[in-house]
Amino acid sequence: MYTQCPICKHQRQISIKELRSSRGMIKCALCSEEFDALELLSDKQVRQPKSAQLEENRFNVNSVYWKIGSFLGIICLLFQWAYFNYQAIINNAQFRSTSVYITQLLNVQLPHYHNPAEIEIIHSDLQNDHDDIYRLKTILINHAEFTQKLPDLKLTLIDITGQVVTETILTDRHFQTDELLVMPSNEAIKLTISLLILVQPLGGYEMELVHES
Ligand SMILES: [Zn+2]
Repeated sequence: MYTQCPICKHQRQISIKELRSSRGMIKCALCSEEFDALELLSDKQVRQPKSAQLEENRFNVNSVYWKIGSFLGIICLLFQWAYFNYQAIINNAQFRSTSVYITQLLNVQLPHYHNPAEIEIIHSDLQNDHDDIYRLKTILINHAEFTQKLPDLKLTLIDITGQVVTETILTDRHFQTDELLVMPSNEAIKLTISLLILVQPLGGYEMELVHES
């Protein structure tokens, strides 16, 4: 005769003698569940797909793989997130120190911090040099905690009636300077550029930082 554990479905052989002595109550060898052997008593051996023990093992093994899989999945997601938010991360003041530390460990060059909102134009001056050649001088200060790359500047030329004649974006390639084209933290940097201006007569100009990169 056979009986089956109601919990883990483990089947075992049982004799009348055994049933009598235990009054039908037996303990499952696999899951330790105490159950009434008479309830699921049968003459035939049930063909189990796999033994309950094997099922249990497989479940445990699966759960280990599942944990490793989830862990790798999370790492992948983090990398993906970091990849797509790279610019934001390196320009985030809170993460910057950590980023600098990590890139030093990895021995790679971290691109310069870039946050024009922390740069201020403290002086600018546009003077006629000769003929149509003008000299634009400007002093910028970097209020950020970190060295920044030079921001782009938008120069707007205005005629004597106050109309905007032209707008030019000046990038670090336009500045004729021997100085480093980076802005150390809390330091001012002086930039000079010669421009050919054909607006005659020139009424004025405006210069501002370009915020979107
Ligand atoms: Zn059991």
